[in-house]
Amino acid sequence: MLVLVEHVDGDVKKVTLELLTLARSLGEPAAVWAGPGYSEIAKGRLAEFGAERVYVADSADIVDYVVAPKAELLASLVASRSPAAVLVASTAEGKEVAGRLAVKTGSGVITDAVGLGEGFIADQSIFGGGVNVHSRVSKGTPIIAVRPNSTAPVPAPGAAVEEKVDVALTDAARAAKIVERVKQEKGARPELTEAAIVVSGGRGVGSGENFAIIEKLADSLGAAVGASRAATDAGWYPHAFQVGQTGKTVSPQLYIAAGISGAIQHRAGMQTSKTIVVINKDPEAPIFAIADFGIVGDLNQVVPQLTEEIAKRE
Ligand SMILES: Cc1cc2nc3c(=O)[nH]c(=O)nc-3n(C[C@H](O)[C@H](O)[C@H](O)COP(=O)(O)OP(=O)(O)OC[C@H]3O[C@@H](n4cnc5c(N)ncnc54)[C@H](O)[C@@H]3O)c2cc1C
Repeated sequence: MLVLVEHVDGDVKKVTLELLTLARSLGEPAAVWAGPGYSEIAKGRLAEFGAERVYVADSADIVDYVVAPKAELLASLVASRSPAAVLVASTAEGKEVAGRLAVKTGSGVITDAVGLGEGFIADQSIFGGGVNVHSRVSKGTPIIAVRPNSTAPVPAPGAAVEEKVDVALTDAARAAKIVERVKQEKGARPELTEAAIVVSGGRGVGSGENFAIIEKLADSLGAAVGASRAATDAGWYPHAFQVGQTGKTVSPQLYIAAGISGAIQHRAGMQTSKTIVVINKDPEAPIFAIADFGIVGDLNQVVPQLTEEIAKRE
């Protein structure tokens, strides 16, 4: 099974370790490294999580052009190695790679999978999270984009036998060149869609300034901060952190929703979270219906107390 590696500054991203873990349960994982930066450290990580092979295509061309070269690289590997399936991360880029690869190989594609089992049957949560679907690709090589945090990464050593791959890019793949890269200023918090824990605030937080209590709780847990659309529309928190149908989709191990009512559009972005904790002063708030653990109370009291208790554990 081919697993497209997501990497930054030569470091393998956590989602790739999740995909390798998933691939191992269904076959023999082979990692595909696209672009420069392959190192002993990267090899070590891929081996640690069970990659039996690593196909290394380290030409700068692959990352100098937008998305298309990665699809061409995978398509050439599908043609020459006939993998049982191809797994990519269900990120904006991963999904675009998956779609292009499906067209190139005449295969079926499944995106936003939150699980993958025997026979490559994928679990998806659709229609705003209201329906769970099990789907299987019925044509070509199954291409499956799996959401980050769907599987807990578990180490199990693999040989990570390295094989260099040269790919001759077509002119079409060079149609859009990246001319500049600007590094996004990043705080100490993890990226929202990749975080194992997300703490989100809604209208109940009351103001932009009061989001500080949400941030403090998030920091005590090493979590990312999210927000409902009511909070982002009010200008209390940037739109980039909106969770939901028109925001980001998250699927962390733990999602804490404070002062959020649980509108269908919000739930669509978070209800595949493994454990959901709700803090809301209204016991009738719809979000309690999907909570694993609910606290009925004023978030202005509950959130700081929670932060304090967590700090005591350290
Ligand atoms: C096309 C479309 C797309 C949308 N996309 C999104 C989306 O991507 N994401 C999204 O979030 N929304 C989205 N919405 C908006 C969505 O319908 C809701 O309006 C929004 O999610 C409500 O946000 P909220 O839960 O923060 O606010 P509210 O619904 O107003 O809920 C606030 C909650 O806070 C509680 N509360 C108040 N004070 C306190 C306190 N002191 N302590 C504890 N609890 C308190 C209240 O009891 C209440 O349950 C979309 C809507 C449409 C029409």
